[in-house]
Parts: sequence; C-alpha cells; structure tokens
Amino acid sequence: MGQFVVPLLLCLLAVTLPGASGGSGRFWHLTDLHWDPGYEAAATAGRPCPSGGGRSGPAGPWGSYLCDSPWRLLGSAARAMRDRLATPDFVLWTGDDTPHVPNEQLGEEKVLHIIANLTALIKETFPGIKVYAAMGNHDFHPKNQFPGKEHRIYKQTAELWQPWLSDASLPLFRAGGFYSEKLPGPGMRGRMVVLNTNLYYDQNDETAGEEDPAGQFQWLEETLTNASRADEMVYIVGHVPPGFFEKKRAKPWFRSGFNERYLRIVQKHHGVIAAQFFGHHHTDSFRMFYSDTGTPINVMFLAPGVTPWKTTLPGVSNGANNPAIRVIDYDQDTLQVLDMVTYYLNLTRANMMASRREGEFPVWEEEYRLTEAFQVPDGSASSMHMVLERISRDPHYLQLYYEFNSARYDLELCKQECRVDHLCAIREVDFVKYDECVKTNSSTSAASSVWLLVFCMFLGFLSPQ
Ligand SMILES: [Zn+2]
Ligand SMILES: [Zn+2]
Repeated sequence: MGQFVVPLLLCLLAVTLPGASGGSGRFWHLTDLHWDPGYEAAATAGRPCPSGGGRSGPAGPWGSYLCDSPWRLLGSAARAMRDRLATPDFVLWTGDDTPHVPNEQLGEEKVLHIIANLTALIKETFPGIKVYAAMGNHDFHPKNQFPGKEHRIYKQTAELWQPWLSDASLPLFRAGGFYSEKLPGPGMRGRMVVLNTNLYYDQNDETAGEEDPAGQFQWLEETLTNASRADEMVYIVGHVPPGFFEKKRAKPWFRSGFNERYLRIVQKHHGVIAAQFFGHHHTDSFRMFYSDTGTPINVMFLAPGVTPWKTTLPGVSNGANNPAIRVIDYDQDTLQVLDMVTYYLNLTRANMMASRREGEFPVWEEEYRLTEAFQVPDGSASSMHMVLERISRDPHYLQLYYEFNSARYDLELCKQECRVDHLCAIREVDFVKYDECVKTNSSTSAASSVWLLVFCMFLGFLSPQ
C-alpha cells in the first residue's frame, strides 16, 4: 500500500497548487491618475488649478471635475485598493501620470519626478506585488512625442520600474517602452504583453512616417506566435487604444495604417489573446473584435480613469467622470475574464461630506459587477457581444451602460446621436466599418424622422402654411 501514498500525495498537491487547476484569481486595473501637483496650492490661494486650463470652479478637498487629481485623491484611491483587495495576483497600471498642462509648464525632469512619485505610491500600496506598467501619452516630454528608438525617458522610467521588470524586459523597454513577461505563480501559463501604443498615436510626430516604429508590431507578432507554440495565453495591455472615442463622433487615436495593422494582428492571433486592457479614454467602455464572418473573437476593456478631469476636446459635452478603479476576476489557467467589479468615488458627495481631519478617507463604493449588471456569464468575447446586443436593443441596458461610462457622473439620457456614437465605437475598431456603421445607423434614424414628420403632417399637427 505504501508505494501508492507518495504518488497520491503528489497528485493531490498538483491539483491544489494555484494555477494548476485553473483556480480563479484577481487583479487590479488602474489608469490615468494624472496627478496635478499644483492643485492644493492653487485651491488655498483661490486660483484655478493648473490643469483646469483657465476654467474655474469649486476646488474640493478630494478634487474637482475641472481638474486633475490632487495627491489626496490618489492617496484615497490607494487606500481604497488596499481595503478592497490588498494582495491581488498582480496590478495593471496603464499610464498617464502628469497633469493636463502645456509642455512649457513641464519638462523631462518634472515628468520623471511625477512618474517617480506615482511609482512610489503604487509600490507602497502593493509591496512585493508584481505591477505591469505601461506608459501613457502624457508620460513623456514633450507629451505624445515618443520615439521608436532609445531615449533618456525610456531609460529613466525603466530604472523606476526596475523592481517590476525582469532582466530580459529591461533592454527592450529602454529601446521602445514595451515588454512581455510570463505571469507569476507556479503552473501559470499566462503571459502579459505590455505595449507602447503611444508610437501609433496621431499626435506623435516622431513616428509619423514610419511603418513599424521600434519594430513593435513585428515583435508583437513573434511574441504571440511563440506564446501559441508554448501553449500560453496572453493579455495585451497598453494606454492609447485603437478604434474610436465613443464620446465624439469619428474621433480615432491611431494613425490609419497603424490601426489597420493592429486589427490584423488581433484577428490573426486571437486564439492566444485572452483579453486586452487599455486606458486613455478616462471612460468605461469596451471594444469588440470580430472575424471576417462576424464571430466575436476578442474584447478590449477600457478602464475608467482616476482623474475626474473634464476633457477640453472640442465637441465633447460634459466630458468629466467620477474617479474609478477596477478589479478583474480571471481564470488563472486560461486567463479568461470571469467578472469585473468597478469601484468609484462620488466626488460631489465626497467633497460635500469632506472631513479634513488627517487619516479620514471617503468611501469608494462598488459601482457595478459586470455579470450582474448585464446578466452575462462572464467577460469573454461572446459574453461582451451579448452585452453589446443588450445595449443595442434595450434602452434600459443602454442607459445603464451610459451611466457607467462616466462612472455615474453624467446621468443624462443617452439619445439617438449618443447611442450611435457609443454603439459604433464599441462594434467597429476598423476605420471604414466604423464610418459605415455611423452612416447606416444615422440614415435609419433620419429615415424614421422623415416618416414621423409625414405622420405628424397627416395628423394635422404641422400646418403646411
Ligand atoms: Zn489620460
Ligand atoms: Zn492618454
């Protein structure tokens, strides 16, 4: 009998090891912290905050919708994360650390100082926990101008993130700001691919004429091919996403050729990509990827920002948000997204009830749980396609999605134009297909308006005279 005991124990150990049996794990995704170091001094002096662009409004102790984050708000987010989940498997941090101020008010040193401060905050919040950090378009000087080759800012940032980066990642990061690492934990077959998509941003003049800046596309294809051979599953993480901004019609971020190439890579390698996590919008949304025959093959989750800053992008109305952070539940073996819980700070309420006493923090409430709010089994591509179908067909779900989009800042009704902007941005990452989607849906609504007009005239509500 004795000879069976050891194999039996080994067998029991194998099935109970984390990851080996596909247990579920959790991680944080935080993005767009945008610290405004001048907020408190301006508030005390009764001046508008530096990041407000001259717009003035009440500057509460926890922040203002016109401004980027005061340090106190970031401290409160860190505290909320520790209280809710102090030991996640890992953390995704998708960039944008500096305030929305003109380049003249920043500089390489100041940008690096801000990145260093936020890096220290995250390290203190999650000691010993692996953080996968991506650079945002604001984490450079001049902003957006990331080169496709070595640069002092890449090198300095690599230094700051050195405890989180493996030795193999360092040279790659110094040369282009991207890297890939195997997920921690025994038996894990997951891989994180962290991209520097700022290289594809249409505001980046450094890479404008290039076909494959820093060789990142080729590297990405090789990394995904190798992952497939090694039977790994991958999360792709980055800051600036492909596709369109859902709050402004026909507003993409990538240059057209870069957008096309990114989309082709996802379509070709979708089998190894479990999900994609990006930031930059400051809003809560997602993007669908389909095969040529229309099967949902992948999903990109866009996480809401910590900064409440109201965008100055022309054509966006009321573009602020409540500060938000999110936890993702996932299968440690397949990396399938099982669920997602978003927490938010109702900034208006926090400021109203503010206590300035040291050590008192406002509560970051649970905003929603994906599977409960949208009645889907998980966060897979097919489930997220169901979410899209629900919000397309049912005004109740559309409104629910819309209120989550700004972490419950904008509670207006999402009417026809708003509906088309959001649905087409979610459905179509491709430039041509997005245009077709907008045209088709707008003409449908235009046609129905004509019928309504004819109907009204028929009823005599409108007089021809
Ligand atoms: Zn941002
Ligand atoms: Zn950004």
